[in-house]
Amino acid sequence: MELKLLYQKEYDKQVSLIEELQEKGFNIITCPDCGSVIITRRKQIMIKCYDCGEKNSQESCPDLFY
Ligand SMILES: [Zn+2]
Repeated sequence: MELKLLYQKEYDKQVSLIEELQEKGFNIITCPDCGSVIITRRKQIMIKCYDCGEKNSQESCPDLFY
């Protein structure tokens, strides 16, 4: 059995929690350049990574769980 299937329920819980955070105006994303996890406000358009210093639009930063 694939790992993803074994833990699908836990994964779905993470997606549910991040959606709850987004409803409150926050988001958890990953830097497309170095992969660091960044907490931000959804309304912030440009994100400067605290780790590598690169600037990216929030749209180009993948959400943490989807
Ligand atoms: Zn980075």
